[in-house]
Amino acid sequence: MADLPSQARAVIIGGGIVGCSTAYHLAKLGWREVLLLEQAKLTSGSTWHAAGLVGQLRSNANITQLLKQSVELYDRLEAETGQATGWKQNGGLRLACNPDRLVEIKRQATTAHSFGLEMHLLSAQEARDLWPLMDVADLVGAAFLPTDGQANPADIAQALAKGARQAGVTIVEDCPVTAIRVKNGRVQGVATPKGEVAAEIVVNCAGQWAREVGALAGVNVPLVSVQHQYMVTEPIEGVSRDLPTLRDPDRLIYFKEEVGGLVMGGYEPDPIPWALDGIPAGFSHSLLDADFDHFETLMAQALERVPALEYAGVKQLINGPESFTPDGNFILGEAPELRRFYVGAGFNAYGIAAGGGAGQALAEWIAEGEPPMDLWAVDIRRFGPPHRSLEWVRARTLELYAKHYTMAWPQEEHESARPERLSPLYAVLKEQGACFGEKLGWERPNWFAHDGIEPRDVYSFGRPNWFEAVGREHRAVREAAGLFDQSSFAKFLLVGRDAAAALEWICANRIDRPVGALVYTQMLNPRGGIECDLTVARLAEDRFYLVTGTGFANHDFAWIARNIPEGLEARLIDVTSGTAVLSLMGPRAREILQEVSPDDLCNAAFPFATCREITIGGAQVWALRITYVGELGWELHIQVEHALVVYRRLMAAGRGSGLVNAGYRAIESLRLEKGYRAWGADIGPDHTPLEAGLGWAVKLKSNTPFQGREALIAQQAAPLAKRLACFTLADPEVVLLGRETLYRDGERVGWLASAGWGHSIEANIGYGYVRNAAGVDDEYLFGGNYELEVATERVPCRIHEGPLYDPGNAKVKT
Ligand SMILES: Cc1cc2nc3c(=O)[nH]c(=O)nc-3n(C[C@H](O)[C@H](O)[C@H](O)COP(=O)(O)OP(=O)(O)OC[C@H]3O[C@@H](n4cnc5c(N)ncnc54)[C@H](O)[C@@H]3O)c2cc1C
Repeated sequence: MADLPSQARAVIIGGGIVGCSTAYHLAKLGWREVLLLEQAKLTSGSTWHAAGLVGQLRSNANITQLLKQSVELYDRLEAETGQATGWKQNGGLRLACNPDRLVEIKRQATTAHSFGLEMHLLSAQEARDLWPLMDVADLVGAAFLPTDGQANPADIAQALAKGARQAGVTIVEDCPVTAIRVKNGRVQGVATPKGEVAAEIVVNCAGQWAREVGALAGVNVPLVSVQHQYMVTEPIEGVSRDLPTLRDPDRLIYFKEEVGGLVMGGYEPDPIPWALDGIPAGFSHSLLDADFDHFETLMAQALERVPALEYAGVKQLINGPESFTPDGNFILGEAPELRRFYVGAGFNAYGIAAGGGAGQALAEWIAEGEPPMDLWAVDIRRFGPPHRSLEWVRARTLELYAKHYTMAWPQEEHESARPERLSPLYAVLKEQGACFGEKLGWERPNWFAHDGIEPRDVYSFGRPNWFEAVGREHRAVREAAGLFDQSSFAKFLLVGRDAAAALEWICANRIDRPVGALVYTQMLNPRGGIECDLTVARLAEDRFYLVTGTGFANHDFAWIARNIPEGLEARLIDVTSGTAVLSLMGPRAREILQEVSPDDLCNAAFPFATCREITIGGAQVWALRITYVGELGWELHIQVEHALVVYRRLMAAGRGSGLVNAGYRAIESLRLEKGYRAWGADIGPDHTPLEAGLGWAVKLKSNTPFQGREALIAQQAAPLAKRLACFTLADPEVVLLGRETLYRDGERVGWLASAGWGHSIEANIGYGYVRNAAGVDDEYLFGGNYELEVATERVPCRIHEGPLYDPGNAKVKT
């Protein structure tokens, strides 16, 4: 084994599959002086005892892409390195035992088609032909992914380590990292019992130890260890080497072939957390005691599916701890707390499937300083204050573990670790029938129940129980007014002599406007991709107020803070907690607001896209005239102690004008009709404003330099390869949820990024990018006949130019 060098360009902590893959890919990118440190022996964490199923389909296109990259890598790794990997592409079978599950797998098959993965539906008999040992009496259908497979986890990781060594990586085992050196907000290196190593980059791939390793550097890595068990049988007659992997979600179990026998594991509804007081010292290449009692529920299910198990000898019941996260996605990227400190951890029992692609993405992220594609679903910046609490993280993570195979309902909310962050209006809105959803710990009203209906979501793949209530709120906003509690918005102040100059560089729209201006803008990466989508209000010459989505608080704060050009004097402060937000929206918003405020609110005195301080009772309120629902209205930003009183005054003033409480699901329906983009769905780092139809919000005509400008100018020189477009589908029996496949003249051209029901236009609405390598001009875009694949069925749809709903003439287009 190699000696410990005193310096390296990158130090990777952890020799599991993810650390080995990251080292391998960094070396392939031409990086020299890459050092991998493993506290014990390679693969001695979770990797050596994984079951080794490699599935690819996820609900996010780019994460599916990463898993496809794993498969491509595993396909060639053995030949490349000479190290056996046990990789075989025997396909993956997924079962459905009830009508809802059948809809779910049909929708998954359509998602697979959207993302370019082969997945087809099978009858129960066809499924049995592929898996003869299984009892199919209760099956209503199945689906098959021919390119899925399985591998020997330790061998795959060893092959990656061998490939990394061959490409120049130094690997040192029995060398724990005990401290991380930090100076001026940047990582400097690591300490080990064998000595110090100075490093430009440090990468935390420490698996279930990653939270503790992160803490050495003041970086939060929200994951916890949970016990995960699977059984290995002696050989069973009829188990062939090419038997596909099998997932039986209604029974919470999975199977794969192993040496002529079966591996069977699953996700118990009552998972057992592990290492509540920290991972014991010296826990390496170790297993936990087999817990046959706890496995009993899964075993009973497995016996019904595969009766031959009854007579099979059990070789071993493996109980291994694995790291799980509060949203079931892994954690990747540069830590917002510390520059040049990267994390790749928390793989939720699919680290073998994800390891190849995730290591590649992490290596590219390190090499370029930004992710190779939109990886928001796994980005470490998606977390917020509650994720710093171990208690909160553990509660939510256990819920997610237990839900691994349960139905993934549209718009499903989680129940654990709630309530946590409350707006000052929470109790009052609850009294009035609010049904809350949760985001980053915040309780937010999704809809309001009336007429004796219980404020509780009843999920469905059809029209859910909140449909009518949301329709009522939606129409009230279109016809009178609605009041939305949006206190969870992330809010920042940028203050200082050079605040305007800093924002001119970071923002694509023109920010240096008079005091009182309110600007909708994107912030772009150097590729022109949209990193942030927010509003900027100029409160004073040297003071800007930035408002962005609840979920983007950490991400946007880090993006803005890190992109303030060096030498400029501008300080970013998070003021989220001190300010409540009430959005008063609708044609009667002005008369209602005028009733409670002495300030002149007429259009001339208070035009669109401006902000002013107004008085409501004893409160000084920042009123921002803007809308995300397409109606006249104001966002009222109120110091929290005044919020309840302002709310009461507004509701009293609006009583005769039809003012109603309204929630986030109405906002979604309203914004879809008006074509307002949602970051993380319609727009993100993979899309430029030109592709997203937001060119009007970019200052390309001025000579002001801004980040991303060159990329947009270059993009203007050639036809766009994709463009966001709006589609409608009038059939109320069809439910659009997003990810439906889009066909133009019979050819697959994309998928829906977001979708839902428009309650004014009474039609399904979807937004998706139409892709064509040769270019998407107007003729191409509007000259085709479009269809959507919804749960494997094709249905015709219509493409539209411009917003579907125009409040000016209150007319509707479908
Ligand atoms: C029972 C079970 C079944 C599973 N089945 C599957 C499956 O079928 N398919 C699938 O895709 N995934 C499966 N998994 C998940 C998979 O095993 C993990 O997701 C994957 O191994 C995680 O790899 P890793 O590199 O992140 O972590 P690990 O393999 O745990 O590697 C982390 C390494 O970091 C080292 N380390 C920690 N602290 C330090 C330090 N301070 N200094 C130096 N080194 C340190 C550790 O020793 C360890 O070797 C399963 C997991 C379990 C438990």
